[in-house]
Amino acid sequence: MNSLMLNTDGVQIPQLGFGVWQVPADEAERAVTTALRAGYRHIDTAAAYENEEGVGRAVRAAGVPREKVFVTTKLWNGDHGRAEQAFDESLARLGLDYVDLFLIHWPVPEQDKYVQAWRAIEKIYRDGRAKAIGVSNFTVATLTRLMNETDITPSINQIELHPYFQQREMRAFHEANGILTEAWSPLGQGKGLLADPALGVLSEKYGRTPAQIVLRWHLQLGNVAIPKSVTPARIEENLDVFGFILDAEDMAAIGAMNAGRRIGPDPDSFN
Ligand code: NAD
Repeated sequence: MNSLMLNTDGVQIPQLGFGVWQVPADEAERAVTTALRAGYRHIDTAAAYENEEGVGRAVRAAGVPREKVFVTTKLWNGDHGRAEQAFDESLARLGLDYVDLFLIHWPVPEQDKYVQAWRAIEKIYRDGRAKAIGVSNFTVATLTRLMNETDITPSINQIELHPYFQQREMRAFHEANGILTEAWSPLGQGKGLLADPALGVLSEKYGRTPAQIVLRWHLQLGNVAIPKSVTPARIEENLDVFGFILDAEDMAAIGAMNAGRRIGPDPDSFN
């Protein structure tokens, strides 16, 4: 499994992870267990997903040493003013004594508390209870302000990113500032994107599924990607993307699919 180095000394993140948004609490343990058995070593949850307990149970029971599994959770929007307590509550639900990555889930500019939240998260990092810290759904404006007003540059920004919404400006900004780009909804949530004829052509050419073509594109761009599935065959399929390489022309063909179209909310207004 390929890993990328975070700007935090010595911490590496497996480039392909397993996302559990919309996995019901009573299914999370089974899904994460399936993923860990398939070979995933990176799980992406959040307080807002209400499945941290199941994720934690699976991680603790997996028979994989804790230090070999990368666990991310996130601070929810209403908790920016109580980040440390909310973090402790997440840890307790996970049943772990640290997480590998703790993210501010959304900036919520109208609430204007993300700088305050980040200062508390810097303390959590210094205490060693989060091995790395970062943000999600931050824009150039919110990231710039955060970097100007606090000590630690976020190690990663987890944003909506797939072939229909390629986020070129954010990727360039991250690269210029030593921040990794992590793609949420990396498969564009499945349906429409994976039926796109352009992916069909590449699927034929490489003998891989459209989902595998898209995930391979993320890896070659340097993104961290966290596809979600609860179907065991798809969980395995989504990890089986290290045995082929898209050539430059085909990377460009996927590049040409950009439609500037979000599926999810706009971070400037989402609260
Ligand atoms: P995704 O792009 O991973 O798509 C998941 C859906 O695609 C599945 O429900 C299934 O319908 C389909 N699918 C998955 N594998 C497939 C395959 N091999 N073949 C065909 N169809 C397949 O979408 P997502 O769940 O929205 O995003 C992934 C993860 O990103 C989430 O679980 C979560 O961890 C994270 N996320 C974060 C935020 C955020 O605000 N930070 C927002 C959304 C998602």
